[in-house]
Amino acid sequence: MTDCIFCKVASGEIDSKKVYEDSDIVAFHDINKKAPVHILIIPREHIPSLLDMDTEKQALLGQMNSIAIRLAKEHGVAESGFRLVLNCNQDAGQSIDHVHLHLLGGRPMGWPPG
Ligand code: 5GP
Ligand code: ZN
Repeated sequence: MTDCIFCKVASGEIDSKKVYEDSDIVAFHDINKKAPVHILIIPREHIPSLLDMDTEKQALLGQMNSIAIRLAKEHGVAESGFRLVLNCNQDAGQSIDHVHLHLLGGRPMGWPPG
């Protein structure tokens, strides 16, 4: 999608600090990090929200989870603990309509989230 920030990050049109990419997935540091480790994992494909991943996109969601686990290990938060967050729509605070998984770690996180 031409006016989507994360499509542009995936294509390289917008600069980002990428930590992983393959033919399906891109991962990069969040520009406004909320924890010492804050990485976003996105599909290259423009998928607006989790609601669009209920059937044939389940494998892609699995790939995103796998990469999150790998990145948690690589960034030293696997043992200390980390959180995966996937905000869906307004009440959850989804601000970019291209599905993205947050990997947060490196500090204790409260529960429940605010
Ligand atoms: P949401 O609130 O939609 O779940 O998360 C969107 C995230 O994208 C936010 O944490 C925000 O800081 C991050 N973000 C927004 N624009 C950019 C950008 O251009 N580059 C990067 N790296 N992160 C961005
Ligand atoms: Zn997009």
